[in-house]
Amino acid sequence: MMKRDLIIIGAGPAGMAAASEAAELGLSVTVLDEQPRAGGQIYRDVDRASSLRGDILGVDYTEGTRLTDGLRDSGVDHITSAVVWAIEDKFRISYTREGRCAQILTDRILLATGALERPMPLPGWTLPGVMTAGAGQILLKQSGVVAQGAVLVGAGPLLYLIAAQLVRAGTPPAAMIETQTRGDMIGALRHVGGAIRGWPYMVKGLKMLAEIKRAKVPRYTGATEISIEGEGKPEAVTFTHKGGRQRIACKTIFLHHGVVPNTQAARSLGISHHWNAAQGSFVPELDDWGQSDVSGVFIAGDGAGIGGAVAAEHAGRLAALKIAEDTERLSAQDCNRMAAPLRRALARDLAARPFLDAAYPPYGAALHPADSIVICRCEEVTAGDIRGYAKLGCLGPNQTKAFGRAGMGPCQGRYCGLTVTALLADANGQSLDETGYYRIRPPLKPVTLGELAAMDETPQDAAE
Ligand SMILES: Cc1cc2nc3c(=O)[nH]c(=O)nc-3n(C[C@H](O)[C@H](O)[C@H](O)COP(=O)(O)OP(=O)(O)OC[C@H]3O[C@@H](n4cnc5c(N)ncnc54)[C@H](O)[C@@H]3O)c2cc1C
Repeated sequence: MMKRDLIIIGAGPAGMAAASEAAELGLSVTVLDEQPRAGGQIYRDVDRASSLRGDILGVDYTEGTRLTDGLRDSGVDHITSAVVWAIEDKFRISYTREGRCAQILTDRILLATGALERPMPLPGWTLPGVMTAGAGQILLKQSGVVAQGAVLVGAGPLLYLIAAQLVRAGTPPAAMIETQTRGDMIGALRHVGGAIRGWPYMVKGLKMLAEIKRAKVPRYTGATEISIEGEGKPEAVTFTHKGGRQRIACKTIFLHHGVVPNTQAARSLGISHHWNAAQGSFVPELDDWGQSDVSGVFIAGDGAGIGGAVAAEHAGRLAALKIAEDTERLSAQDCNRMAAPLRRALARDLAARPFLDAAYPPYGAALHPADSIVICRCEEVTAGDIRGYAKLGCLGPNQTKAFGRAGMGPCQGRYCGLTVTALLADANGQSLDETGYYRIRPPLKPVTLGELAAMDETPQDAAE
């Protein structure tokens, strides 16, 4: 079985930057990513984008070719379409590719698995035609498909970005129903110093808002009691705005109220996590190189806490430097010297984050949904079921599996975990840290018996 100095899981900005840096310093590196091409979420398919698609998605997207080119030129093995489903022992990584399983060995792993969109369970969210805003954006990035007359619901910078991209594509959203309030913005002003230091992000935000305004997209901020109507398919979004009930007829709805770290692989390794109240999510415990409390495992990028693509790139490089020092490719002195400018750039880039987190908090009603709402879509478990389990003595998310299979479907809890934790914490009067999260075990992603039976001894050829 092949052994490498470093295996990186994830070819987004964190993984690509770390791979190039580590290879430059002499490590043998393999990058595994389930996508067919490098780029991660932000730079998805950037190498294939036409100039028209580049214009629609913007320079922050096309800029990604710097990293995809860097990865290609670095000589790193990038195994594309490789779905990692188990990390065991120290360390045997199992993945599936093109109907077969393969395994690869290493002593050091960098998890660069990025973020997931926060689930937004509200009435009607499981209807076909209702999807996350990120999923709508994937259609555009990967297939050039744009939604006509979509209604965007939720909060956060990514919602504005996607709205602006739809405007540039010539299919502006029919409306934006936004959940952040004036009070949230006033509260965020305590972080105004950071917002000033992170002014480039503020300027980008204002430019996007101007594009949305020029396209005359109606915006309803501070919306509450949001519900999607329809039998079998969406017909309208209804909501309360400034004390009055509103109804917007539509067939396509994009939901988004922030992104959260994708911690599944980290949790499967037993890495400690704690609740980060500002980001409303669990984050892994790491030192300032991204090193976790499981020896040999580093985490960089949004999987370590939401920071955005530029911060992910810096964090990936920092982790690579420390891994190079650990493997004696770099002296401690050189490692610190090379890290210093990266640390300064990282701090600069993260300065605006507390302001953004406070100004665009998650939609409260979707954190504590009504009893009738399905929260585990794989196993069709409702919020009321979870509250019922709490009454029967269920204290933590892991126990809900025994009560009603929540978190045991194909997504392995990725899309219900945080909601289950919030519901149980509330019902049991415990903190989110006390309540905890699912215990994640392999397989992290579905794997078939056929794929297991076709286990390769060596990894398949790198596709790039
Ligand atoms: C749907 C979505 C869309 C986004 N779009 C934008 C945008 O347009 N602009 C923007 O500024 N920010 C966007 N973001 C935020 C953005 O993802 C990050 O800030 C940035 O991409 C983080 O970089 P990263 O390297 O940490 O992770 P990512 O770029 O997310 O890369 C992580 C990679 O890990 C891979 N991966 C995860 N688990 C596995 C596994 N088990 N096996 C194999 N591979 C795995 C994924 O396929 C992915 O390619 C988006 C986030 C999401 C969730």
